[in-house]
Amino acid sequence: MTTKWIATPKRTKEILDAHGFSFKKSLGQNFIIDANILNNIIQKAGIDKQTGAVEIGPGIGALTEQLAVHADKVTAYEIDQRLLSILKETLTPYDNIQIIHQDILEADVSDMVKSCFKPGQPIHLVANLPYYITTPILMKLLHDDLPVTSFTVMIQKEVAERMAAGPNSKRYGSLSIAVQYYTRAEVIMNVPKRVFMPPPNVDSSVLKLTRRESPPVQVIDEDFFFDIVQACFAQRRKTLRNNLIRHFKASADNQTISDGLKQARIDEKRRAESLTMEEFAFLANTFYRIIETGT
Ligand code: SAM
Repeated sequence: MTTKWIATPKRTKEILDAHGFSFKKSLGQNFIIDANILNNIIQKAGIDKQTGAVEIGPGIGALTEQLAVHADKVTAYEIDQRLLSILKETLTPYDNIQIIHQDILEADVSDMVKSCFKPGQPIHLVANLPYYITTPILMKLLHDDLPVTSFTVMIQKEVAERMAAGPNSKRYGSLSIAVQYYTRAEVIMNVPKRVFMPPPNVDSSVLKLTRRESPPVQVIDEDFFFDIVQACFAQRRKTLRNNLIRHFKASADNQTISDGLKQARIDEKRRAESLTMEEFAFLANTFYRIIETGT
């Protein structure tokens, strides 16, 4: 039976040849040709027959097929029109798959989840993401506050490490804070290039993001908090004070910045990469009070 899976080099090649399909690099098309890797991902994602699955970019259906076998139902978004007729053919044996022809960045996933899945059903997003838009896709999905329990995604190894990084590491930055504000992030496996057709130019990892019930820190204003975090990392080698002076140059003088840091009990000579999320939250709330409310 396993030789019949779409996710084998032989079957993938047959499908591509039969349809005269040529990969579009611009759409990040690197298809998986190893069913064991897919099953491992699906198991780690927490997929079972009680759960619903959302996929982004089904390609020719390698992961979609495995999701259909293990989940109650699958909905997948595919942007490339040429793949629709291929998917119709390759996924014929399954009656629990819905393909939506849409750019994921334009999709109302929340609405889809409400209309396509059972009320209260745990929903997991599982995808081998197109690498050229990994960050915009994940940030949109996290900001949209979707009724999705977890996101298990194959992405570029370096981006996965940045999203999961903690303080005092070279990968830790504003992306780590943005992702970890909404989720618990964990790199669950590294994946060799040879399981893709064609092999990508970069190394890949699977990242699992589990949505938090509520953020781990309380901030007065989320936009203000994320802006400050980004500003503190703007020039990684500079001190917090220097980065903050730049950020607030229109609204605060240098003394106000020093006073704010003192009030937040954070040494002004520290660099952003040494601050925990709690410290960033305290810093942002302190400056919010000083700059926005004058207290
Ligand atoms: N899931 C398949 C697999 O693992 O073999 C294919 C993964 S491939 C890395 C990425 C897929 O995402 C391609 O099918 C591509 O056409 C699709 N894609 C690219 N940009 C997209 C977008 N903005 N919205 C939806 N799908 C997109």
